[in-house]
Amino acid sequence: MMTYDTPASDAHGATLTVDLGALVSNWRALGERAGTEAGAVVKADAYGIGIEPAVTALSRAGCRSFFVAHVSEGIRARSVAPEPTIYVLNGLLPGHCDVFAQHELSPVLGSHEELLEWASFRQGGANARPAALHVDTAMNRLGLWAGEGLTLAREKAGAITAAGIGLVMSHFASSEDETDSANARQIAAFAEITAAFPGLPASLLNSSGHFLKDCPSYQLTRPGYALYGGNPTPGKPNPMRPVIGLESRVIQVREVEAGVQVGYNGRWTAKRKSRLATICLGYADGYPRNASWTDTSTGGAAVIGGIVCPFVGTVSMDLIIVDVTELPSPGAKRGDPVTLIGGPLDLETVGAGAKTIGYEILTSLGRRHARRYVGL
Ligand SMILES: *Cc1c(COP(=O)(O)O)cnc(C)c1O
Repeated sequence: MMTYDTPASDAHGATLTVDLGALVSNWRALGERAGTEAGAVVKADAYGIGIEPAVTALSRAGCRSFFVAHVSEGIRARSVAPEPTIYVLNGLLPGHCDVFAQHELSPVLGSHEELLEWASFRQGGANARPAALHVDTAMNRLGLWAGEGLTLAREKAGAITAAGIGLVMSHFASSEDETDSANARQIAAFAEITAAFPGLPASLLNSSGHFLKDCPSYQLTRPGYALYGGNPTPGKPNPMRPVIGLESRVIQVREVEAGVQVGYNGRWTAKRKSRLATICLGYADGYPRNASWTDTSTGGAAVIGGIVCPFVGTVSMDLIIVDVTELPSPGAKRGDPVTLIGGPLDLETVGAGAKTIGYEILTSLGRRHARRYVGL
């Protein structure tokens, strides 16, 4: 169990607690739900929680397929996991085949150029791991367009073999919105693709994809956000266990009269006599400045003394001011623990308070926090 009463380490403005047991349990739950092998997407430093601890915990639990965005992330994953397949989603830049082979990374090939470059590299005798083929079924972002994928399958099977393709994949554009008709179109387009590549393992589901109706799981899934406790079913109860908690401290408490302006540029005005607590983290710790609470816009909040208290004024680089007027006597005091993420402040709530999504909150988690890994 994660605890939310841990005071932040005194040497840091805040402490990030990462429950690796919950991470592993979320990974298992997604695999069970899909009824197939679950991989793990660990790009962006495992969505901010730390790629080495995440990959170590998941590979010990049996995860055999990881996905990163960049080669540098693949190298970090490989440093703690010698066995698993590590796919690099952003694929091959020209002339980069060697570094893939050196670290036994698997490129996710998204164009004819990449496919041909990888195939000729492999024919040069390089004993590289299998690659994946990315087919774009909606996003117009990365991958061969679906029609190109079908042509490739029908006319250039030799290139697929030469490139050592071991997986064909596509990515949802709107899977968190089960009412979006784009999902059914992508599911149908991918079914056609996989039929054209008989015998090749396939992968389609991201986190929210696991919860779509009438969607096959194929042989491998690619959850990211849900592993880290994000809600893959927005608007419904979160089926995942929380993985992270963020705690800071009160460093000053003061009382201000009604009409007093607070923070940089005086953007918040006290509407009543108020008690304000200043806490010691800010945007340089990865807490978005867009969570500022001004006279014209709402913003973020923190839990102090068991009560959700709104921010006031602009989020500063190292400090945030919080309205603690509603706290019962004796109220907030210097040194009190403050929860920024955890309990009622789940990732979606924090994201909404900062006018963004939980994904961005996670992947912005500061390098400045003390980090505590628990649960394993
Ligand atoms: C980031 C990413 C994922 C994981 O998505 P989540 O919504 O975080 O589960 C899966 N596949 C691809 C191609 C991605 O880029």
